[in-house]
Amino acid sequence: MSQADSTAPFIQAIAQQVKSELAPMTQAIDREGLYPGDFMRRLGALGGFGAALPAQYGGLGLSLAEQIQVTTQVGRECGSTAFLVWCQSSCGWYLAHSPNEAVRKRYLRAVACGELLAGTGMSNAVKHLAGIEKIHLRAQRDGDGYIVNGSLPWVSNVGDGHLAIVAASVEDEGYIMFAVPSTARGLETRRCLEFSGLEGTQTLNLRLNNVHVPADDVLAHPDQFAAYVKRIKPGFVVGQVGMGFGIIEGCLAIMRESNAGTAHVNIFLDDQESDLADQLAALKAQAAALARQAQDGETPILPVLKLRAAVSELTLKAANSAALHAGAKGYLMLHPAQRRLREAIFVAIVTPALKHLRKEIHDIDQASALEAATVQPEQASHALAAH
Ligand SMILES: Cc1cc2nc3c(=O)[nH]c(=O)nc-3n(C[C@H](O)[C@H](O)[C@H](O)COP(=O)(O)OP(=O)(O)OC[C@H]3O[C@@H](n4cnc5c(N)ncnc54)[C@H](O)[C@@H]3O)c2cc1C
Repeated sequence: MSQADSTAPFIQAIAQQVKSELAPMTQAIDREGLYPGDFMRRLGALGGFGAALPAQYGGLGLSLAEQIQVTTQVGRECGSTAFLVWCQSSCGWYLAHSPNEAVRKRYLRAVACGELLAGTGMSNAVKHLAGIEKIHLRAQRDGDGYIVNGSLPWVSNVGDGHLAIVAASVEDEGYIMFAVPSTARGLETRRCLEFSGLEGTQTLNLRLNNVHVPADDVLAHPDQFAAYVKRIKPGFVVGQVGMGFGIIEGCLAIMRESNAGTAHVNIFLDDQESDLADQLAALKAQAAALARQAQDGETPILPVLKLRAAVSELTLKAANSAALHAGAKGYLMLHPAQRRLREAIFVAIVTPALKHLRKEIHDIDQASALEAATVQPEQASHALAAH
């Protein structure tokens, strides 16, 4: 039996749960900001966050490729909830790769099983490390722990009873990554202004006012941080493509439905269902290969960034085409084509946003070109010396 065959029953069980429990809630999630906490807990019990996590901590011991399949199943019905699945499974991914056993023991099993819901407030740090913005959280040493101050504007899947995983700078030392339970003294959450979509993600403003972070809640200390981020980044970036894949599949379904009645005019549109489906299949194959490499810690970041950018672009294209296929019906607020447009834009603006990805790709290309230009003259002078 191939690995895909052996995982099929688990993916099928999740697909069934998505159809029966999540599909009827998508309108309320989108229009009323319903947070699907119970659905998330039940998904966790089915292994929906643990595909890439070790069995000894309650995971399934498969790989990120299967985790992407789960996120895709959820995103076919609801892009907003697919984002929550990514948040939760990424927190598991961060914990699983922490070099510090204490923090893994404290939280990983509960996060993997969905008993403890968790948010990742890493956008600011990831953008900071890419030279886009200043770091918002600052830590000072306090014994073997830290005291942290600052605020993060938007963190999803957090609130009472949840965990948040974030990063801060430590003066003259570098950075730390750590977990903060909602009960931590000095942690406050505030509501955000209303978003145009993703309102069901419980996205809050986090304020840390002299929050004490014990050593047992630290995922990476300053001397561990660089190697740790290098290990986790390809995985958490490639994991996001499941959101895009699910939304694209939802858009293809809208196009097929519309073609049943108006194919005779829809054929004049630029992005046809079969072309988009072919492009989706190619990106899925790339994602599966990169996800397995990321699981083993063997993928360089550049192909991952390129894939993530290509998925953002295809998601935007598919959502636009679905809306154009659906026509005036698709312009009704309750039609999924409307929701898909807003979900697709989110895929392209959540960190790493499309503009961020293009900047990082540009920076890496520039650095490689510079390196090649400095190596070549050296090689030329070695060649001359040999003659
Ligand atoms: C619904 C929703 C949910 C989200 N959930 C999460 C989450 O769970 N976790 C999380 O971490 N993030 C989350 N985010 C944040 C998201 O990932 C992005 O970080 C966020 O959308 C901001 O990115 P941006 O591309 O708009 O920033 P940009 O527009 O790229 O801005 C980058 C920075 O540059 C600064 N800037 C602007 N002009 C200048 C200038 N001239 N010089 C120097 N600096 C300048 C800005 O202040 C900003 O800080 C969420 C966002 C939304 C909308």
